[in-house]
Amino acid sequence: MRKLNCPQCKINRFRVRNKNGDSIVVTVNENLEVVPIYPEMSLEGYDLEVLYCLGCSWQGSPEKLTNKH
Ligand SMILES: [Zn+2]
Repeated sequence: MRKLNCPQCKINRFRVRNKNGDSIVVTVNENLEVVPIYPEMSLEGYDLEVLYCLGCSWQGSPEKLTNKH
């Protein structure tokens, strides 16, 4: 499935964070599902509504990666 890219720098890797300040690297697919790049990692407790781009200062929700918004 196609991965969505950062609207600014066009890479497809982002971080999500939890309340403890931990972060893990994820991608977002066409169904706006947030997927950890290491499948064994759990997204439990992570805020999936705020993505932080790995390549630039962009941050935003998965919906903002589509052209519809
Ligand atoms: Zn970016």
